[in-house]
Amino acid sequence: MKEQIFKNIQSVLEQINNACKQSNRNPNEVKLLLATKTVPAERIKKALQVGHTLIAENKVQELKEKYEPLKEILHTNHFIGHLQTNKIKDLLRYNVSCIQSLDRLDLAEKLHQRLQYENKTIEVLIQVNTSFEESKFGVQPDNVIELVKQVAQFETLKIKGLMTIGLFSAETEKVRECFKLLKNIQQQIIALNIPNVEMQELSMGMSGDMETAIAEGATIIRVGTAIFGQRIHSDSYYWNENK
Ligand SMILES: *Cc1c(COP(=O)(O)O)cnc(C)c1O
Repeated sequence: MKEQIFKNIQSVLEQINNACKQSNRNPNEVKLLLATKTVPAERIKKALQVGHTLIAENKVQELKEKYEPLKEILHTNHFIGHLQTNKIKDLLRYNVSCIQSLDRLDLAEKLHQRLQYENKTIEVLIQVNTSFEESKFGVQPDNVIELVKQVAQFETLKIKGLMTIGLFSAETEKVRECFKLLKNIQQQIIALNIPNVEMQELSMGMSGDMETAIAEGATIIRVGTAIFGQRIHSDSYYWNENK
């Protein structure tokens, strides 16, 4: 099993390198995040041993279950799932350094309250619904700037950029539009120079569309299937914390 994960990581790294070459980017600008939903801690450990230490869960429950077994290995945890406000307290127990899925004001408010109480700060990305699909979470593109301005008022939340899930489509050009839109919103926000807002990260691209995302400026790609293999449940199951 270690061999297979190792090979898969190698081939994803090659894909990243090739995509960077084609778009004249430095591969050091693109971080590989391992999306570990449904993957048992033992297998995640193997990936971590290969040296890829940025991982992310979609559900607080899975974060909790894998916390102890993964504790002994150095790694960085992000959160990429839909977050319910009643799970905030629990989430903050497990050493998550960045919540990539901040998509609404009430969540930001509640996070801020809890972080203040715990005397902590956390990095966040604003999740944008660039595909306009109802099934996807994320703030609507037209409302991103307003949300960023509001979140910037909470000094415990350190905005580092934007995140999106591209359209699921075999038509590359339609997928590309999602990533272009995210980049465009990023540029608009940078131009506004909002205090307490950094915009260096664009988290976009997954197993099926990482090349396109890299060509459009991704700094974090989130890869699950290409490294750990197919999952049993459909993704919509993991994109809804209610289920
Ligand atoms: C599962 C997941 C990924 C990884 O998807 P793959 O297609 O398995 O690479 C990326 N981002 C989010 C938000 C996910 O839930």
